[in-house]
This record gives sequence, structure tokens and C-alpha cells, in this order.
Amino acid sequence: MRYEGPIYRPPSEADSLLIQATVGCPHNRCTFCMVYKKGLRFKVRPASEIIEDLNAARAQLGDWSGTIFFPAGNTIAAPTNILVEVFSAARQIFPKVKRMTVYGSAQYVIEKQEAGLRRLAEAGLTRIHLGLESGHDDVLSEIKKGVDRAGQIEAGRLLNKTGIENSVYIILGIAGKALSREHAAATASALNQIAPQYVRLRTFVPKTNTILLRKVKKGDFIMAGPHEVLRETKTLLENLTSSTSLRSDHYTNYINLEGELPMDKQRLLQEIDHALKRDKSTFRPFFIGNQ
Ligand code: SF4
Repeated sequence: MRYEGPIYRPPSEADSLLIQATVGCPHNRCTFCMVYKKGLRFKVRPASEIIEDLNAARAQLGDWSGTIFFPAGNTIAAPTNILVEVFSAARQIFPKVKRMTVYGSAQYVIEKQEAGLRRLAEAGLTRIHLGLESGHDDVLSEIKKGVDRAGQIEAGRLLNKTGIENSVYIILGIAGKALSREHAAATASALNQIAPQYVRLRTFVPKTNTILLRKVKKGDFIMAGPHEVLRETKTLLENLTSSTSLRSDHYTNYINLEGELPMDKQRLLQEIDHALKRDKSTFRPFFIGNQ
């Protein structure tokens, strides 16, 4: 298998076979994201090369029955014909594959339209990891997500309609102190309309080579602390009525919240209340990772 540029995958794909389908991210403008900022420009690998890699994996792994994730940053943006060819080939090469997934931002999901997404689902695409980040228009605009709340909701509905699972990512603290509560409430209401199968929590940490790190350093963005982020999480959960699996499978979070909603809501709220009583010094450091 050959890889080019940074290869990121969600923690839930830790055991997946990684077959690179695209390089970089076609958007590459989100103010919090460092992944491809100084990297290669977005490109789609030829289907023949991707299929060669699938065959190379088959030679190594045999009739493997796990899951496959196709990096990189927004593989859903690749032409539908190429993706259909690749997913169909993957199913032939690995007939027992359990799940095939890609990253996909809402604007590129919408571009596929219902017909394109149906073709992808039929070819074998089972799940998209989608960065909602926030359901608040001002926040989405500020972080340059490239899509507004209405677009995020439209993409979610399209995925539900076409039977592709939606694994949605939320960034706690991405609105700073200023819009923390509004961000939480608007995000919960967007999620209620999107009804994703998974909601995955991440907490904002300023990363190297990002606009947001520069803003933090200049004092133009005031980061929410652990207790503010926990209150934000509480507002999000209180307002979330959709049935979904909540996961906080990431090192950036101050506490680990896992459960099925609405069944586990009260327990999760109690866990947040318990954490709110902890001293600030008992949480992870404010800055972690590469700054
Ligand atoms: S769409 Fe995803 S990969 Fe691309 S810049 Fe935004 S967060 Fe980064």
C-alpha cells in the first residue's frame, strides 16, 4: 500500500484497513484545522492505483473481514464514478468487509445529490464521518467551515434518506467564551434535525499553523476553560432530543461521555454535574498537542 501526505483517521477506524483514495483536503480553510495546511494540494488518486493497493492488501491479509477507511481529508469530494468503481472493487476483493467509510464535509455530500449518494451506498459506502463542528451560523462562518447550518442539516438529511450512516463531529469550545451557550443550543437543535447515528465530541485545542492559534495568542479568541466546556456540553445534552450514540472518543475531551440517547441522558448529565465540582487543576492541561 502506498500513502502520500498526512494520513488521519478517526479513532473509531483504528482497526480499519487504510486505503488512500485522495490526498489532502479540497477545502483546507477551516481555521482550527492544521492537518493539510502546509501539505499537498487536494488530488484524487486514479481508481486503478487505489484498486492495486486493495489487491496488495488482499495479498497480505487474505480474505479479511474487517472495516476499510479511505483517507484523506474529504474523500467524498472525489468524482462519484471513481468512488463507485473503488467501493465496488473493494467489495469484490474483500467480500466479507463489514464497513467502508470516508471523511466528508457537508458541502461535498450535498454536491453528490441524492442520486449520487444512492449509487455510493449501493457500491458499498456504509458510513461518512462528517465534521458538523457547530450548528450555529456565526460560528460556522467564523471558523470558515465552508457551509452554513442549513447546508449541514441538508447533508444530514440526504445521508439519512440514502441509508449512509452519519458519524457527526462536534467541537466543544469552538465558539470560545463569547458564544459558548448559543453554540451548544444551536448545535443540539441542528443535531435534532439531522438525526445522526453517532455524535462524537471533541474539545477545541489550538493547533500549530492555524488561524485560531494566532487569534488565541493575540487575545482575539478567548478560550473556554474546562468548566465552561462542561457547561456547554450540559446545554448540548439537555437540548438534544434525537436518538443517537454519543461518543467522546478523543484525547482532547475533559471527561469521557459515552452512552445511548435518550436512554442514558440522565446518567450523562449526572457525570457532567459531578465533573463540574472538580477543581480546574484536576483536568487535562489547557494546551495539549502541538502548538
Ligand atoms: S474540511 Fe476537514 S480536513 Fe478540510 S480543512 Fe476543514 S477540518 Fe480540515
